[in-house]
Amino acid sequence: MKQEFMKKIVESHAGEVEFHQAVSELVASVMPYIKKNPKYLKANILERIVEPERVIIFRVPWVDDQGRVQVNRGYRVQMNSAIGPYKGGLRFHPSVNLSILKFLAFEQVFKNSLTTLALGGGKGGANFDPKGKSDNEIMRFCQSFMTELQRHIGPDIDIPAGDIGVGAREIGFLYGQYKRLRNEFTGVLTGKGVNWGGSLIRPEATGYGCVYFVQEMLKTKGDSLEGKVCAVSGSGNVAQHTAAKLIQLGAKVVSLSDSSGCVYDPDSFCQEKLTFVKKLKNIKRGRIREYADKYKCKYFDCRRPWNFKCDIAFPSATQNEINATDAKNLIKNGCICVGEGANMPCTPEAVKIFLKAKILYGPGKAANAGGVSVSGLEMAQNSQRLSWDSQEVDAKLKQIMAKIHNQCLCYGKEKGFINYLKGANIAGFVKVADAMLDQGVV
Ligand code: NDP
Repeated sequence: MKQEFMKKIVESHAGEVEFHQAVSELVASVMPYIKKNPKYLKANILERIVEPERVIIFRVPWVDDQGRVQVNRGYRVQMNSAIGPYKGGLRFHPSVNLSILKFLAFEQVFKNSLTTLALGGGKGGANFDPKGKSDNEIMRFCQSFMTELQRHIGPDIDIPAGDIGVGAREIGFLYGQYKRLRNEFTGVLTGKGVNWGGSLIRPEATGYGCVYFVQEMLKTKGDSLEGKVCAVSGSGNVAQHTAAKLIQLGAKVVSLSDSSGCVYDPDSFCQEKLTFVKKLKNIKRGRIREYADKYKCKYFDCRRPWNFKCDIAFPSATQNEINATDAKNLIKNGCICVGEGANMPCTPEAVKIFLKAKILYGPGKAANAGGVSVSGLEMAQNSQRLSWDSQEVDAKLKQIMAKIHNQCLCYGKEKGFINYLKGANIAGFVKVADAMLDQGVV
């Protein structure tokens, strides 16, 4: 039945390999559950849930610093609004295409369902490369992108946020243009600056949340993060705050990476070294190689940090960054846990290896849901015209991560092992599917 279903998906979403991968992973978990609950079959929920409610594709023209006219392609995939308005980030990266955004939007639907908040799922972005662009070029691009996007979003319709290549700077430019065009000051984007409607802890939330989720997983084994050696990939928003929280909780972070290569620091990162990384990546927009020059440690060109000995791996850069060989290396080197900060960072073969080895494997839609959770809290604060202090937001984030963990346990318990992938997929699916049943054929 799964094969038959996937054959149809591959035919009707031709060439969209990342989307096929995300659908296949969910369907493998939920198909047995659906067979036991024929109401979902009767209402054709699976066929409907894989079809985006709406896809918007648009031209983004802009002028570079040399006065040349450039053009990029912009997207917004509004995947599912059964449990709330569309919510999900914007990605600016040259690799962006419809397949990648459909996979991200699809994952987002189930992730948002797990957060326990009323959030539907969407994702968007452009095949624009922010690398090497001046602040003025970034601003002109963001203004052009928002000039079209503003027609399709709103605080009760669709609320975008950041993702790869979209951080505080881009959210600022996007928000400014939205406000100018619509003449309204509303919570239409999250990840805003704290003095103009942003939530404290939102920048930290995905990384912190991932660490809290891993803490919950370790607790099921009577274990903790204290002294654990952690390999983190990426050096952007998620990686920086994952590393910061790990260091704070007594773990040893030994690696970071970027799209050029990775650094291995056997003396481990500390808050001071992380401050260097934050300045390097967020302000100077340099390469991680410069960390190795500064702290006299090893840099590996074109490599990812999965060959080093570690107890826990935190893939926090991009999709499919851990393949089967990496997964085998991690297991061989004693890795007992994987917390996915990135979306779909492990290939299906790598996931199979982790599940077979029965290590603690926390899939992205559960482990990295902290970011969208605090985005949900930012929306609540905007609606109330209030801002909560960081302790309050952090406490709520911790509670939400614990609740997500509990939902995974609810559906993921197997003999002597917790299958978090199955647990997250079924728990995320049930809430959305039940809402779709209640709302009829729409
Ligand atoms: P950033 O743009 O802040 O950082 C991305 C990091 O990953 C950078 O170090 C970048 O390197 C590296 N990277 C990007 N593409 C590749 C690639 N193809 N190969 C190797 N390295 C790459 O993004 P975020 O930290 O926000 O996002 C990281 C991941 O986390 C993504 O998968 C995103 O979808 C996911 N995520 C993010 C959330 C958030 O709140 N920001 C929420 C939930 C998930 P370089 O500097 O060279 O570009």
